Amino acid sequence: MYLKRLKLINFRNYKELELDLNEKLNIFVGNNAQGKTNIVEAIYMSSLGKSFRTSKDKELIMFNRNQSYIKVEGQKKYSNVEVEIKLVANKKKRIKVNKLSLSKNSEILNNIYVVIFSPEDLRLIKEGPSERRKFMDNELSQMKPYYFHNLNSYNKILIQRNHLLKNMRGKDNEFMLEVWDEKLIDVGVKIIEERARFVKRITPLSRLIHRKITNNRENLEVTYLSNIDYVEDTNKLKDMFKKQLKEALKIDIKRGTTTVGPHRDDLGVFIDKIDIRSFGSQGQQRTCALSLKLAEIELVKGETGEYPVLLLDDVMSELDINRQNFLIKALKDVQLFITTTEINNLEELNMDEAFIFHVENAQ
Ligand code: ATP
Ligand code: MG
Repeated sequence: MYLKRLKLINFRNYKELELDLNEKLNIFVGNNAQGKTNIVEAIYMSSLGKSFRTSKDKELIMFNRNQSYIKVEGQKKYSNVEVEIKLVANKKKRIKVNKLSLSKNSEILNNIYVVIFSPEDLRLIKEGPSERRKFMDNELSQMKPYYFHNLNSYNKILIQRNHLLKNMRGKDNEFMLEVWDEKLIDVGVKIIEERARFVKRITPLSRLIHRKITNNRENLEVTYLSNIDYVEDTNKLKDMFKKQLKEALKIDIKRGTTTVGPHRDDLGVFIDKIDIRSFGSQGQQRTCALSLKLAEIELVKGETGEYPVLLLDDVMSELDINRQNFLIKALKDVQLFITTTEINNLEELNMDEAFIFHVENAQ
């Protein structure tokens, strides 16, 4: 899919902005703090309904204003899509898709598909497990709204369970946990199964891409490190989760927190059996992150029939020329949004038909 038009009112530093977008390549060039990432952020919002930089919608509203508006119009293979988001200070945001108000904001998912790639993503491999869980969760949420819903439920149940654990010390009321355990297991298993499927599909895709980037020198292997010993059978998996919760009970009560479950999952990233999270060079870690991100694009295409748009925020200058070249060649079917402070860094791109936006003080 591609995006045709973007409109912002009182969003971050943009008082009012309307842009016609290029079907293939859009470059936002300008000095620091001018408003390049703000544009990328608005596009991301139109896909997931939330920012990648903040969980506080209020920060997105222009200083000293109390409302903000985003409209993104896109073209899919067989239909148009228009997403509008209205943010009002201290109120719940309101979202419309194709002019219809959503009763639940999570219904925004599955309309506009984006994959974002920023310098933080280059650190996907070397950061802690939470970043890699976020990688799985964002992609799965976008493609499968019920996954997003389950994840929210799981987190709520977890908070309740932890709350109870904290208040249990010294009391004989372990039976009270049972009802929460059952809920936690029920939703938790759904998350585990989706993640297992996700990793199973992303593994061959990322492996293939990684071989191309490294000229067949490296074999990438991604594995799902499920915190609950994974078995394919749903009932057996539930039993396993239950067993592990039981085994951890003493520790959980002592620590006042739930120590087992998919909120402790991770992804293993190996090259020729070596754990790249701990032993990879910086370059290897970055290349693996790149392979995973590119695999994600193919996965979205496979799941939805549409290529997502790719947001490259400040990432080009962090890649060497070989990887830049590879990226651009790999992405010829994808609409690109690139932000950069230096257009000369992008000499490898075919600029003939690109739209280049010079961004200065939100103009
Ligand atoms: P860099 O090259 O450093 O990444 P950038 O062009 O990507 O810069 P942005 O992050 O898009 O910069 O924009 C930052 C600017 O937006 C800053 O000047 C900041 O003060 C301004 N800004 C952020 N939030 C708001 C807001 N709610 N209201 C008004 N201005 C804001
Ligand atoms: Mg920026």
